[in-house]
Amino acid sequence: MAKKGEAVVHVTLACGECHRRNYHTKRNKNNIREKLAFSKYCRWCQHHTPHKEV
Ligand SMILES: [Zn+2]
Repeated sequence: MAKKGEAVVHVTLACGECHRRNYHTKRNKNNIREKLAFSKYCRWCQHHTPHKEV
């Protein structure tokens, strides 16, 4: 069960090209206020693409 006032939120990362949701991660909203964006391998596009938080 999540603790009260928990700052960590679950985020989903979607491929910037095909918009499929490939990755799930966590973000601490106290440390990172902006939306996450990573370059990750998309198995649908078959190369690395920018993945953004949705
Ligand atoms: Zn893709």
